[in-house]
Amino acid sequence: MQRTDLLIISWLLASAATLQATDPLPVLTVPVRVHLMQSVTQARMNTTLTDTDVQRIFGKVNKVWSQAGIHFDPEPLLKTTALEVSANEKLKNEFERLKASLPPASHSSKAINVCYVKMLEPNGFYFAGDVFVKDTASLKKVAGGLDEPIPRVTAHELGHALGLKHRQNVTNLMASGTTGFSLNEEEIKTARNAAAMLLQPKMGAKSVSVP
Ligand SMILES: [Zn+2]
Repeated sequence: MQRTDLLIISWLLASAATLQATDPLPVLTVPVRVHLMQSVTQARMNTTLTDTDVQRIFGKVNKVWSQAGIHFDPEPLLKTTALEVSANEKLKNEFERLKASLPPASHSSKAINVCYVKMLEPNGFYFAGDVFVKDTASLKKVAGGLDEPIPRVTAHELGHALGLKHRQNVTNLMASGTTGFSLNEEEIKTARNAAAMLLQPKMGAKSVSVP
């Protein structure tokens, strides 16, 4: 074998190694405020999840979202007492009723609010900026899917919060009602752009000094 052949072979091997070892995406850390909704009068608003459950849930949520280089960082846990919803608001749809149950003073404007309750019609939903998930969620198992429904539902709703739409392929995160959790390149790009926007300082947040 000639010296030039050896050089070509070593160059090809080096190129293959570079292709395999693609740099991981820079991690975007998104703050989350978790509300464990509590109520003595409305059983369906009273989650029984604990601090340990939330740690486990977000461990799995972050495993799912690591494929997009996104890490959700829950603030210290809040037990949020659900507001009694007025008769007028009870007439509204479930999205609005749940939203009205979250006390405005507990709501974060700097983090994504994720509220756990006991019972909802769907497993969870994303509505007007906030995520709601029921702790009694159940899903259809698919091969290679996540081993627990609550983290998968949470990760799916956070996908909506980052601008993703449904894509009904059984093994992907944005399919409805399954345990799948894969994301395609386009979804990763969309979610990362939305996360980067969320992390930007809000317009008008800069203080202005008046002479
Ligand atoms: Zn959905």
